[in-house]
Amino acid sequence: MSEAATCEIDLPILRERDVRLWIRREDELFPGLSGNKYRKLKYNIREMQRGGHQTLLTFGGAFSNHIHAVAAAGRQFGFRAIGVIRGDELAVSPLNPTLADARDAGMHLHFVSRRDYARRQSPEYLQELLGQFGPAYLLPEGGTNPAAVRGCAEILGEADAGFDRVCCPVGTGGTLAGLAAAAVPGQQVRGYASLKASGLEASLRDWIPGKHWTLSGEFHFGGYARIDARLVRFINDFRTETGVPLDPVYTGKMLYGILEETRRGQFQPGTRILAIHTGGLQGIRGMNLKLGKKGLPLLQL
Ligand SMILES: *Cc1c(COP(=O)(O)O)cnc(C)c1O
Repeated sequence: MSEAATCEIDLPILRERDVRLWIRREDELFPGLSGNKYRKLKYNIREMQRGGHQTLLTFGGAFSNHIHAVAAAGRQFGFRAIGVIRGDELAVSPLNPTLADARDAGMHLHFVSRRDYARRQSPEYLQELLGQFGPAYLLPEGGTNPAAVRGCAEILGEADAGFDRVCCPVGTGGTLAGLAAAAVPGQQVRGYASLKASGLEASLRDWIPGKHWTLSGEFHFGGYARIDARLVRFINDFRTETGVPLDPVYTGKMLYGILEETRRGQFQPGTRILAIHTGGLQGIRGMNLKLGKKGLPLLQL
């Protein structure tokens, strides 16, 4: 498979601070299976096949990029996909665009109450699900496990050694872990948390080795999948000025953070930054439904 294109971003603030910024378009890598979710699935699909499984069972919320990607992968690689979805009320309302795509790709959607969903890591609950659906390869919410980290390490290649910093958005931290594992000596990796979680950095330090990575917890805009008019405007302006579309949950917040830190002079003149576009653009349609209900401006599609 071909590697993703990398484009340099030209904005006045970058020139002013003498900071150079490139975006790696992982979002364009594999049609329908955008961004880091392909990276996270690659070795999981191999392990599933090696284990003789024909079914992959995983978990996600109503707008989950992971659910969307697993459904697309099921169709492309020919396995049965089961998505355990948080919120049993969703079963009786029209499906949002993310879930409609997943169903159209052939995923079986299993809606469960929030109380059941909270048990998604309990061995008894997993046994119950396997009893109901038959043998399956189990993948946790967000798709992060050692195989996923290995896949994310492949985002970086030999040609990337010249970047001083590699930046990515952070949900579960699987992508950050892969980049941290692949970084060359002297390279800094910086994650931008898309959720508000005190102690997130400490819990990531428990399992992501190295002193060469940092986490910004400042640019979550109120929490996971939270967005305001300022972020909508930023994402729309960024697209107009650079031609690069950003998603509202992850990459929009990361780029906002990188440019704000540039404005504050946090990067030394001459710094070369590579930001990973992890995808997520499928979520714009669902987010626009929410924004419309709140009377907020919409994201350009
Ligand atoms: C899932 C996702 C992330 C978060 O990745 P983690 O490995 O869970 O930290 C970032 N960006 C996009 C677009 C995603 O869909």
